[in-house]
Amino acid sequence: MFVNLPQPMPHGEAVGIDVGLTSFVATSNGLLVKRPRFFVDAERKLKLLQQRVSKKRIGSNNWYKAQKKVASLHEYVANCRKDWHRKLSHQICNDAGMVFVEDLNLVGLSRGMLGKHCLDAGFGQFFNILEQTCFKRGVYFQKVDARKTTQICPSCGIETGKKELSQRTHKCSNCGYTTDRDVVSAQVVAIRGLAAVGHTVKMLAVGRSLPEGWVNLLESL
Ligand SMILES: [Zn+2]
Repeated sequence: MFVNLPQPMPHGEAVGIDVGLTSFVATSNGLLVKRPRFFVDAERKLKLLQQRVSKKRIGSNNWYKAQKKVASLHEYVANCRKDWHRKLSHQICNDAGMVFVEDLNLVGLSRGMLGKHCLDAGFGQFFNILEQTCFKRGVYFQKVDARKTTQICPSCGIETGKKELSQRTHKCSNCGYTTDRDVVSAQVVAIRGLAAVGHTVKMLAVGRSLPEGWVNLLESL
């Protein structure tokens, strides 16, 4: 899309993004954003209208009328969603020189995020809009491998093992670092992103230097 224009260079504050179903977006600097209630309601209404269509005789006047209602609500919801994605993207860009997101093609398989839920949530579209917004705002954007992001402590680098989905908090048994699990994933994404662009990797949470070999540990996963 932007092949003829130079991409922004990596610089400034790194922000990692984790997407999920509990929080739509979690960032490495601690922002947690839920999907607006509006979409849940609108989607429920959309389903209802679609059911009504299926009860009408195909090709009848009432069928056409019902179809039209579905189409216009569909368009309205899609526009609202895009608008919300745009606003969220700008909000993220306000605090960032570099934005790193999960490569969903890789993460889906390991987290069972493929399929209807994942597609419905619109993560792919959000990342496209985020990428475009970053470009416009001069913010560096890169996708990174985000496998096992919930199984690593971003503070000390140790593998903490798998978390159940119900376990919402990361508490490291090694260093005691405690924070929201999605924020932890976003922090691991940010660290991997920094490693990928070759910046000096520093601990995002506390600002101390990471132990040696830590980047290698992440890259080997
Ligand atoms: Zn730790």
